This record gives sequence, structure tokens and C-alpha cells, in this order.
Amino acid sequence: MLRPFTLHRPETAEEACALLAELGEDAAAYAGGTELLLLMKLDLLRLRHLVDVKRIPRFGEIGPGPRATSGARLTIGAAVTHRAVERSPLVGARCPLVASVARHVANVRVRNVGTVGGNLAFADPHSDLATLFLTLDASVELVSPRGRRELPLGDFVRGPWETARAADELLASVTLTPWGGDTAAAYVKFGVYERPTLAVAAALRLDGTAGAQRSGDRIVDARLAIGCVGPTPVRLADVVIGVLPQKQHLHFVVWRIFQSIEDVFLRWEDGVIAPLLRDELLQLLEVRLVELRRQHVAPALRDALQVHRGISTG
Ligand SMILES: Cc1cc2nc3c(=O)[nH]c(=O)nc-3n(C[C@H](O)[C@H](O)[C@H](O)COP(=O)(O)OP(=O)(O)OC[C@H]3O[C@@H](n4cnc5c(N)ncnc54)[C@H](O)[C@@H]3O)c2cc1C
Repeated sequence: MLRPFTLHRPETAEEACALLAELGEDAAAYAGGTELLLLMKLDLLRLRHLVDVKRIPRFGEIGPGPRATSGARLTIGAAVTHRAVERSPLVGARCPLVASVARHVANVRVRNVGTVGGNLAFADPHSDLATLFLTLDASVELVSPRGRRELPLGDFVRGPWETARAADELLASVTLTPWGGDTAAAYVKFGVYERPTLAVAAALRLDGTAGAQRSGDRIVDARLAIGCVGPTPVRLADVVIGVLPQKQHLHFVVWRIFQSIEDVFLRWEDGVIAPLLRDELLQLLEVRLVELRRQHVAPALRDALQVHRGISTG
């Protein structure tokens, strides 16, 4: 049962932050409510005030974002819904994979009201967006009565359900740096019910200029991130693989991803899970990983590369 609360509907970020500062622990920002209202209904969270951020104009916009030396960027306001991301022509043009991942978040009911900002601010380790956005060098913009600040997404998400956001700060937007046209990218998730339980994002940059003879056969570097296996999504150190014989490129990338998943999982489990349970989990994970590698990740990466240039990946 939902306990009574007051819904505040400020029109500006300043007003919303002032409310959060004044109401303190009794209040929280409220966007789509898909996580917040659930916790309140289960009585896991007791709040007497919700501060709706959906009327703040800039929070609901998708725009080109500030230009970076690396080229055009993309800014998505915190109150933009997954559905709007999926349908945005700008997202489709600049980051088509982001649009296609948005299409597979949760179910249509959640996508219609759930927001990008709510997803990132909630910091669920099972967030598709946080994992994918790490490979897009995402940074988040936070606003508060003290002004605005920008943080790399990797520094913003600190742990499971924990971020660097102060109590009176709001997440205003996230800015992505789209990959260049010489990149093939894939996102693969393995889900139980509607939530992802293991996710891999991979963007592979190819050598040479478009259209050049046999260009694209070499993968010059790979940006990889994995989600759901640790307390936060993890961006792996960029892998430079141009030196490997051509036929091994894809196999190397896939091998590297799975080696890192196991590393992250082992590191995490060391700290929090009893040894007996850990062994069982590892056995389970091993079966899952083999299945995931064979059936999902390797084919998805191969498809991404083939669609990109029609190249042979060996
Ligand atoms: C059934 C189900 C399936 C799901 N499946 C997936 C999935 O497959 N992949 C995936 O990535 N996610 C999934 N999710 C999570 C979903 O993406 C989030 O529920 C949604 O995006 C959260 O956004 P919201 O607007 O509803 O947040 P709310 O519930 O309104 O808020 C969530 C949290 O963020 C805070 N918050 C919200 N906006 C701001 C802001 N602007 N600034 C600061 N703090 C803010 C709130 O105070 C709260 O703590 C699933 C959720 C459900 C319920």
C-alpha cells in the first residue's frame, strides 16, 4: 500500500533543488516512478514528499550537446523516457545502437514512463544504459543550489544503488560521444524475466577509410563494457588489437570480454559471498558464460561487423 505523500511540481531546476534541500530526507526526486513508487509500495522507502522533475524544460530535451574535439556529441535530458530515446531521429542518426537498446528496456509500460535520468540515478547494477553509455564516454550533468558540475559516468555510479549525487542535487542530463563512422558496435544482454542479468557492450573501430579496398578488415581498437556481473557496470581497458593476425581479431575480442567478466565476478564475489555459495555460483556462471559466448556475443559482434562493411571476420 502506498502511504500518503505530497507531490511537488516545480517548473525550474533551481526550484526543485531548493525543495530537495529544504525537505531533506523526507523527499526524493520523482520522474517516471517505476522504481521509486515500487519501493514505496513495498514500504522499503518512506517519503513524505516527491519532487517531480518532468516539468523542468531542459530535462525533457534531446539535443546535439556541446561539441568535443572528437566531433559531434549527443545530450539526453534526465526526464527523457526510454520511448522518446527509441523514437528520436537525432539519437537514431548519431547513436543508432542507443535507440535500439532503448527499444529493449523492460516492457512497453515501463518504457513509456521510465526515464534515462531515473535509470542512471537509481544506479541499479542491472542497468542497460549505464553499461552501454560507458563505451560512449558518457558524462552526467548535475545541478544544485551551488551551481552545476559534470562527472564522467564511471565516477557518478559508485556502487549498487549508490551515486556521487548529493541529496539536493539533480541529474540534469547525460552527454554521449558517438563513435565514428568507422565503428561497428553491438550490445548483447542475457535476461531473466525483464531485467538484464549479464550484458556486454562492444564498439569495434575498424582501420582505413570507408570504401577503400579491403579497409575495415583490421579492428584497430575495441571499447568494451560489461554490466550486471559486479556492483557497477565496468568499462574495460581499451583493447588495441590491430597487431593480431586478421583472422583472430574477433575471437580475441570475445575472449577478452569473457576473461574480464570472470575477473570482475571473482573480485566481487570474494568480498560478499560465502565460499560455498561462491563455488556454486561460479559453476552456474561458467555454464552461462559458455552459452552466452557461443550463442549471443560472438554472433552479435560478427553480425555488427558484417553489417557495417560487409567484411569477413574469419
Ligand atoms: C519491470 C521492470 C523492468 C526493467 N527492465 C529494465 C531493463 O531491461 N533495462 C534497464 O536498463 N532498466 C530496466 N528497468 C529499470 C528502468 O529503466 C527504470 O525503472 C527507469 O528508467 C527508472 O526511471 P524512472 O523515471 O521511472 O525513475 P524513478 O522511479 O522516478 O526514480 C528512480 C530513482 O532515481 C531518482 N531520480 C529520478 N530522476 C532523477 C533526477 N533527474 N535527478 C536525480 N535523481 C533522480 C529517484 O529519486 C529514484 O531514487 C526495469 C524496471 C522495471 C520496473
